[in-house]
Amino acid sequence: MAYLFNDPTKFTDELIDGFVAAFGDWVMAVPGGVVRAAEYPRGEVAVVTGGGSGHYPAFAGLVGPGLAHGAAMGNVFASPSAHQVYEVAKAAHNGGGVLFTYGNYAGDVLNFDQAQELLRAEGIECETITVTDDIASASSTEASSRRGIAGDLFVFKIAGAAAQEGLDLQRVAEITARANSVTRTLGVAFSGCTLPGADEPLFTVPAGKMAVGMGLHGEPGIDETPIPSAHELANFLADRVIAERPEGAGNRVVVLVNGLGSVKPEELFVLYRSVVPALERAGLEIVGREVGELATSFEMAGLSLTLSWIDDELLRLWDAPASTPAYRKGDQAVGKRRDATVVEDATAVTRAPASPESQEQAPKVAEVFTAIETLIDSQVSYLGELDAIAGDGDHGIGMQRGAHAAAQAALSAVAEENGVGGVIDAAGAAWADRAGGTSGALWGIFLRTIAVEIGGVRAPDVRAFSEAVRRGAAEVQKFGKAEVGDKTMMDALIPYAEELEAAVQRGDECAAALASAARISTERADATADLLPRKGRAKTHGEKSRGVPDPGAISFALIAQKLASLFSEESGE
Ligand code: ADP
Ligand code: MG
Repeated sequence: MAYLFNDPTKFTDELIDGFVAAFGDWVMAVPGGVVRAAEYPRGEVAVVTGGGSGHYPAFAGLVGPGLAHGAAMGNVFASPSAHQVYEVAKAAHNGGGVLFTYGNYAGDVLNFDQAQELLRAEGIECETITVTDDIASASSTEASSRRGIAGDLFVFKIAGAAAQEGLDLQRVAEITARANSVTRTLGVAFSGCTLPGADEPLFTVPAGKMAVGMGLHGEPGIDETPIPSAHELANFLADRVIAERPEGAGNRVVVLVNGLGSVKPEELFVLYRSVVPALERAGLEIVGREVGELATSFEMAGLSLTLSWIDDELLRLWDAPASTPAYRKGDQAVGKRRDATVVEDATAVTRAPASPESQEQAPKVAEVFTAIETLIDSQVSYLGELDAIAGDGDHGIGMQRGAHAAAQAALSAVAEENGVGGVIDAAGAAWADRAGGTSGALWGIFLRTIAVEIGGVRAPDVRAFSEAVRRGAAEVQKFGKAEVGDKTMMDALIPYAEELEAAVQRGDECAAALASAARISTERADATADLLPRKGRAKTHGEKSRGVPDPGAISFALIAQKLASLFSEESGE
């Protein structure tokens, strides 16, 4: 458990404040995370990483000369929002394009991809290499769907060094992809962890047992055995990782032994003592090594062994100097401070001007968000209970955080004289930033797409709203990649968009169209009880969810009903 916190909901904000205060020579805070505090040459590729908080030194501890240029910092164990990633990348970018590299988790991919698209639309070149070193998370035939764990450090280090050599974005991306393709990790866990302020552990491992291949967030492993001796464990891990030797690899390796949180360095040294001869027996030559905490999960007990089969170029880049809060190598100065105003300008928000007509409608939009906030407040525990059956139980609080932030942001946006599009955009951005979780990211995409479609000029009618919803649904689907029938929010959203469009075609009035779409959406959300999940976290708990509707579909339908009732009151029906 975490002993020290104030308000658990502010844990991430407060850890960022303290981290920047402690390591201000290396990092400066920007909205959404941190970037390097020191200057780097114009045209240098910016290596941007990130993920949920709770894994220090991943990710912010690895920002500094020779390594990453920026890290987006999400809430505890939750992906940073697309908006946060975008802001950090914007602040880190220095004319050479952006290389995103981070562990391959669905929520992170969703948000980083969206940020990448926003940057590309602004003419900033981007490439993405996700880290997929965890051999327990998928078979070798599905290597690209594996998760990223301690191998992150190796891949980020190579990316940062390649950028520092002045290589262009394509080359940096190529080399980073190669670094990932030769890196393999296997981890074991002896205990789970409890998040700050939580009463219950997020996950556990039975006493005396070792969960082989368990993920950093308690993702199920591949086996459970009694805990062996350090020597036996070293041999076991070495054998399994060596068996995954990449095709065409030579015999030189960089070795990482990573402690997950509460295994002491002394214990890791005892293990490493046996790793060395195990690798030698297999004919491998150790040309680089790190033993310590590289990627953690609060107080989770466990460790992992990583091997990277390197070539001359990768070795040169691995050996290059670096200096970050958590990682120092060779003779690397921190350097002269960047001009903070340049960073501020890069991340300044500009919203499109609004017409008086659109401004006049804006307060009504804010009222809708306030009504959604009240609605969600009354449904928090119900949504949480649904999610606890086949997911992680956070859908209620996630929606609540999102809806509160959205309502607040909508009111501020009205005060700042935004039009309809501006208010919805501000609400969507705030929702995604604060909600965390997959559904938060998808609601952010949905609302922000609607905002762009509606814009700030016309006062929208039901036809324009229907069109915007259709586009919004398509964007959500593009990023979430779920189809109708996968038991997700799409089961309520797609029928909603379709019925709205049909109602507009029929010539229904606004109130009638919204009511009819809400009715269909609710029917379809309820009917998800009969489905088995195929997307999102729920897919790993399949059978348990039979008979229970999908929480994201239900919350969508509830919001659709609320919107319909607001308009029916207005039209006096
Ligand atoms: P998380 O799954 O990250 O804990 P939430 O609990 O807030 O996030 O939301 C869970 C809901 O998100 C699910 O019930 C489902 O409706 C929705 N969801 C998950 N993955 C997807 C996806 N790929 N596409 C559409 N909706 C999804
Ligand atoms: Mg959840």
